[in-house]
Amino acid sequence: MQRPYRSGPPLRQAARLALLYAVAATAWITLSDSLLELWFRDPDALSWLQTIKGTAFVLVTAAALWLLVYRQLHKADDLVQRLERQRSELDELNQFRRSIIDNASIWLNVIDPDGQIQVWNQAAESISGYDRESVLHSDRIWANLYPDPDYRTRVIEAVRGMHERGTELSGFETTIRCRDGDEKVISWDARRFFDENGRLMGSIAIGQDVTERRRAETALRARERQLATLLSNLPGMAYRCLNDGYWTMKFASSHCLTLTGYPPEALIDNRDVAFVDLIHSDDRATVDEEVSTAVANQRQFAVEYRLCRRDGTELWVWEQGQEVSLDGETVLEGIIMDITQRKRMEQEFARQAAKDPLTGLPNRRELEHRLDTEISRADRFDHTLAVLWVDIDHFKTVNDRFGHLVGDDVLRTLSHVLEANVRTVDSVTRFGGEELVILLPEVELAEAVETAERLRRLVADTAFPLPVPETVTISIGVAIYPHHGRSAETLCNAADRAMYDAKAAGRNRVSAAPMFWG
Ligand code: GH3
Ligand code: MG
Ligand code: MG
Repeated sequence: MQRPYRSGPPLRQAARLALLYAVAATAWITLSDSLLELWFRDPDALSWLQTIKGTAFVLVTAAALWLLVYRQLHKADDLVQRLERQRSELDELNQFRRSIIDNASIWLNVIDPDGQIQVWNQAAESISGYDRESVLHSDRIWANLYPDPDYRTRVIEAVRGMHERGTELSGFETTIRCRDGDEKVISWDARRFFDENGRLMGSIAIGQDVTERRRAETALRARERQLATLLSNLPGMAYRCLNDGYWTMKFASSHCLTLTGYPPEALIDNRDVAFVDLIHSDDRATVDEEVSTAVANQRQFAVEYRLCRRDGTELWVWEQGQEVSLDGETVLEGIIMDITQRKRMEQEFARQAAKDPLTGLPNRRELEHRLDTEISRADRFDHTLAVLWVDIDHFKTVNDRFGHLVGDDVLRTLSHVLEANVRTVDSVTRFGGEELVILLPEVELAEAVETAERLRRLVADTAFPLPVPETVTISIGVAIYPHHGRSAETLCNAADRAMYDAKAAGRNRVSAAPMFWG
């Protein structure tokens, strides 16, 4: 602190002032006395005047002294007050500096060039568990924080490098062993500093406890790895896309390549192709409707459709997903799986279920289905539909004479002959036993009878696989929609009855249903 008074000049100044006063007062007294004695001869008047002069002199000098002392005292008082103020400001500053260092939430320490700790704040104490007294002015802390000698050497080398070469440490992470045995990860930022003469004072280091952050990052990385493994092992492609009409992909798992032929990055943000273009054009409307309805009702969607791969092949896929909100944006998330194999099996099952095993013709159930389809089509387009009811003549005799297996062969041969001699739009089906039904869409009665007649003749001329040459004939009843029946049942009944008419008329012939039936 600066001293308020200096001993030299004020003392000399005061002595000079006293001397000046003594000389001036003596000169004044001597001069004034001589002048008075010169002007006034009367001793009484002279004495009276000298008394007045002496009193005036005392009063004037007293006033001057008072003024001088007052000014000096006033000045001194000001100075004292200023000093008080400065001292309290200085105290505040020191306290502020201490509290900043101490109360900083980050670890703050100062290391001198010998590696001794000169500042160790409260955060350093609470993070490491080592108190100031045990740490300050020593280098013991290094062994405590870094018990592994090799690791310690590496850390000390880094600090020494900073002291000697000025390399700044920024984000330098070390794992410390705390007093309670816990390990913590500290991220350091440190730089060296010098005194006013340019002499190295040491370094100031700021440490941040990043243990939790590192742990969370490690856990997150592990979770991401797990998720990636899970996604790559999924039997389908997981995706996230915008519901923007293009299905702009934002994420696609690695299975994307197997499924579409495109790597994920070729689809993300529609770089090479928009996902919507991979959906078979016939299925797009169905997919769009299912997704829109599900999104509107805030439910999951599940849809099956054909996917056109990069190499031009087609896959059947099943997709399930839903709309989710992500960072304020709504996206679709889900999974797409290849179901081609299942679809093929389903189709095969359906085909088998619709097929008669003996002849390979569509069975009765399929006949009913096709009848319904053809009737509604005929209705819609105002067409006719012809039904030919076919029954083998005396088939029982064939079985009885040559056996059931030969009878089966006859049935198979008949089926092939009929199938081979109708149009592709016509259907030859097995109603049951030895009764077959043929549907001829868009055919009027005359043409239907003509076809039936042609088929009857063809069968009669066919050499069936029989042990002895024998003719096999059929009787056919013809009915037309809508003239002979407006429903599948009435139409079939009409055709069946017509077939019985043909039987009654002697077999191996064609008979048309009369117009009043149905
Ligand atoms: P028609 O029709 O001319 O009056 O005489 P039909 O001998 O054909 O008489 P019906 O229609 O009553 O006899 C049908 C016969 O067809 C009886 C049955 O043994 C035979 N049948 C039915 N289904 C099969 C089959 O799958 N295989 C064989 N081999 N025979 C069958
Ligand atoms: Mg029969
Ligand atoms: Mg028969």
